[in-house]
Amino acid sequence: MTAEVAAPMIKAAAVNKYFGDLHVLREITLEVPRGQVVVVLGPSGSGKSTLCRAINRLEPINSGEIAVDGVPLPAEGKALAALRADVGMVFQSFNLFAHKTIVENVMLAPVRVRKVGQAEARKTAMELLERVGIANQADKYPAQLSGGQQQRVAIARALAMRPKVMLFDEPTSALDPEMVQEVLDVMTGLAKDGMTMLVVTHEMGFARRAADRVIFMADGEIVEDTTPEEFFTAPKSERAKDFLGKIL
Ligand code: ADP
Ligand code: MG
Repeated sequence: MTAEVAAPMIKAAAVNKYFGDLHVLREITLEVPRGQVVVVLGPSGSGKSTLCRAINRLEPINSGEIAVDGVPLPAEGKALAALRADVGMVFQSFNLFAHKTIVENVMLAPVRVRKVGQAEARKTAMELLERVGIANQADKYPAQLSGGQQQRVAIARALAMRPKVMLFDEPTSALDPEMVQEVLDVMTGLAKDGMTMLVVTHEMGFARRAADRVIFMADGEIVEDTTPEEFFTAPKSERAKDFLGKIL
């Protein structure tokens, strides 16, 4: 393996972010190698969502540097749009277009942003819907699908842009419990296929099984950065022990 010579897929160096006086990301430094699955844990308000949004430049940062696949993220403009396409994002709320069918939802960004032709976009969309197990619902509308199915469509929609990295921000938090696993299964499949993933989740089973690495955040800082085994069996910081004590 020559992994050492390749640039990390995600690199954040001394990133700081403020909302007014609130210092929400404090000197965040992080490198995620290609193909790694990182689960980000931490109490509410610790900066997990802001970190995801910063990596995708949905949120400007005050200082520091973020690069994806070796390319520093520009602040704005065309170059930003191109780089943002490299980073797929899946949120708690799926936000599918209600008046478009499932397959149209998946085709939309490639057609509009990447100028892919309709026929090719449809073919790719169907392949992706197959991959997330929803191909037989392609011509339905979002409201006709369950929450778990809609979130799987949202994953397919993100994949349609051929991202190098996938960010997941609490993708199962809005789902009824019986639908959580089908979404986690799709994510596990992606991980097995080698996708580089940063996943904010409260699903500890997923963190234990699928993560190569756990990052624990508190008050805008990375407090622990370790393996799942180590984090769950021997957390070092008081804040991590306290967090685990509340959720396990
Ligand atoms: P987490 O995802 O870990 O719950 P967030 O990244 O959402 O944390 O939020 C980190 C902190 O930043 C919180 O104190 C939150 O209230 C604050 N915050 C998040 N977004 C905004 C915003 N747009 N304006 C002001 N404060 C914000
Ligand atoms: Mg959040």
